[in-house]
Amino acid sequence: MAEIKTIGVLTSGGDAPGMNAAIRAVVRAGIHYGLKVMGIRKGYNGLINGDIFEMNLRSVSDILHRGGTILQTARSAEFATEAGLNKAVTITKIFGIDGIVVIGGDGSFRGARDLSNLGVPTVGIPGTIDNDIACSDYTIGFDTALNTVKDAIDKIRDTATSHERCSVIEVMGRHAGYIAIHAGIATGAEAIIIPEKEFDFHRDIIKPIIEGKHRGKKHDIVILAEGIGGAVEMAKKIQAETGIEARATILGHIQRGGSPTVMDRVIASQMGAKAVQLLKDGIGNRVIAMKDNKIVDFDIVEALNMTKTVDQDMVELAKILAM
Ligand code: ATP
Repeated sequence: MAEIKTIGVLTSGGDAPGMNAAIRAVVRAGIHYGLKVMGIRKGYNGLINGDIFEMNLRSVSDILHRGGTILQTARSAEFATEAGLNKAVTITKIFGIDGIVVIGGDGSFRGARDLSNLGVPTVGIPGTIDNDIACSDYTIGFDTALNTVKDAIDKIRDTATSHERCSVIEVMGRHAGYIAIHAGIATGAEAIIIPEKEFDFHRDIIKPIIEGKHRGKKHDIVILAEGIGGAVEMAKKIQAETGIEARATILGHIQRGGSPTVMDRVIASQMGAKAVQLLKDGIGNRVIAMKDNKIVDFDIVEALNMTKTVDQDMVELAKILAM
């Protein structure tokens, strides 16, 4: 691989708190190692359109504590076409970019793999609130999103208890129940319904609610992952079956925003620096990951072929503790 002197950095897919901390780490570590760092705006769209600028130490001042991404993000349909990909490669040559750090989810890593296949070395950093990247135990943004969900559910619980209501709360996670399970354990949910596990309405929702009522519970919290959906309908069905007043709350995009937690800032900083270290040593086509509390890296194709699923012990624990 040719020597890498200039690197680009972009954020792609859904934004996640901590992406700014990762951008900051890439820029400052890059400059520390004597590299030129170019910011690419709006994900792969910015790459195709040449929306690219040189970043300096001050370009990333005052962003460590901010949610969202200063580089902005996008989902680029054009980039996923052959013509779009070729355009992106041409632009990297025009701007003299020798390697790119891609901060995003699996989709973004597929794009990074395609760039790598065409000779543009890339390193992926897992940035998504869903924690659904198979090669990594952790993705940037997960802890902040969980804390936001925890705060919201604690507040909903206050009013649910006062009125002896059931609250059905929909949290993010289209294909993954990590937010639902972790938030459910942290907030003491009576039922947690996730896309990875089939559920039976009577066995998994109505039964625990009725049994809890007999044991003297004054509220019920049912957490639904976004991939299951239908929170409003679910609340109506619960009310019809149990006679307990039930209300639905869809937390939505509130879960994406906000100042990143310490955990997200530190891990984003470590991952950003690691990505730069690989590129400056001429190593591309990798994905940064966290395994057993260590920052490691995997081949991008291997990483994309891995699978992971929610820990069954966590699912069981949530049930035991909801008694
Ligand atoms: P999130 O987990 O937040 O959804 P993501 O990175 O998985 O993040 P996607 O919308 O799937 O988000 O992907 C972001 C961008 O990556 C897409 O708009 C597209 O430009 C590119 N991309 C996605 N899938 C592919 C693919 N199979 N091949 C090439 N590029 C892709």
